[in-house]
Amino acid sequence: MSDTTTDLLALDAPGAAALVRELGQPAFRGKQVRKWLYDKGAMSVDEMTDLPKVLRTRLTTEATIGTLSQVVEQCSEDGTQKRLYRLPDGPLIESVLMPYRDGRRTACISSQAGCAMGCVFCATGQMGFKRHLSEAEIFEQAWRFSAELKLVGERLSNVVMMGMGEPFHNYEAVIGAVRRMMSDLGIGARHITISTVGLVPAIDRFADEGLQVGLAISLHAATDTQRSALLPVGKRWDVAALIDSCRRYVAQTRRRVTFEWALIAGENDSAEEAHRLGRLLKGMLCHVNLIPLNPTASFDGEPTAEADAGTFVDVLASYGVTATVRVRRGIDIDAGCGQLRDRVMEQEA
Ligand code: SAH
Ligand code: SF4
Repeated sequence: MSDTTTDLLALDAPGAAALVRELGQPAFRGKQVRKWLYDKGAMSVDEMTDLPKVLRTRLTTEATIGTLSQVVEQCSEDGTQKRLYRLPDGPLIESVLMPYRDGRRTACISSQAGCAMGCVFCATGQMGFKRHLSEAEIFEQAWRFSAELKLVGERLSNVVMMGMGEPFHNYEAVIGAVRRMMSDLGIGARHITISTVGLVPAIDRFADEGLQVGLAISLHAATDTQRSALLPVGKRWDVAALIDSCRRYVAQTRRRVTFEWALIAGENDSAEEAHRLGRLLKGMLCHVNLIPLNPTASFDGEPTAEADAGTFVDVLASYGVTATVRVRRGIDIDAGCGQLRDRVMEQEA
């Protein structure tokens, strides 16, 4: 892509109007372009048949629709589609689409190439930080699934920011992209969830946004020693400070917080640990998502057995804390965070 091309997906309504005016066309043509992109899911300028031919030609040469190029796509037996995109300057990111029987279509998208947080069990953390994604690069991942689903008479109903990267480390771009998913793709705030490793000042800032977007916190351990060993960010903000910020969030938004907990056999899955977590969360408007660990290359932990996960759920219930064991989707296609990229890098090496 040359410096002079414009990414149409990066333009808001005034931006689209300005572009078409620059190309000698009335501002309403900008509205038409956006209608094609967002209402109809057009993936090429050629499809925009009610635009004058001269404008289509100019747009084809001087603009692009998005900047991501798909490197590979894998489909799982459970219908999960996982794809790898290359950014214009080289790094790879992942996006996943998960279809559910109740009709939901959920996209799991990335906020950064790599991640600086270094969580020891996470494939993305293990690869380190490459760069932040722009608002448009984040938005494009959702737009692509949305456009493709429109073609087959379906719609993208949910988005989770649980792909590569720490969304709150790239706060403005993520919130900007989320706002555009709401306004341009028609996805309700309540159907979007941001998952964070627990950057306390950003959680406070997020509570003040006045958005009804869901918040998930990667907790994974209830003591500082254990949490810091798994998630280095635990050294910056301790569990008490993190839980306090979650309580402030609930008070401010009246929204339930989700806590994520990767169950690692013999590490954080004992009944004692469940009691500790129960005491910590008792009385809070929250839910616990238990995710059996997805094995990764540089971490030798194992997923917890089903029976132990059941005990964990029962102990939490005794504190009035609801929990579910999340079914791992797309496990046959490495659909864990950062894992498809690892596979492709191995092949390319
Ligand atoms: N950076 C954000 C969002 C991306 S990770 C965050 O950490 O919350 C999405 C979720 O997957 C997080 O809860 C993360 O802790 C979890 N996760 C990462 N690697 C995992 C693995 N190998 N097994 C199970 N869960 C994992
Ligand atoms: Fe980053 Fe989340 Fe992975 Fe931690 S779990 S390294 S914050 S992507």
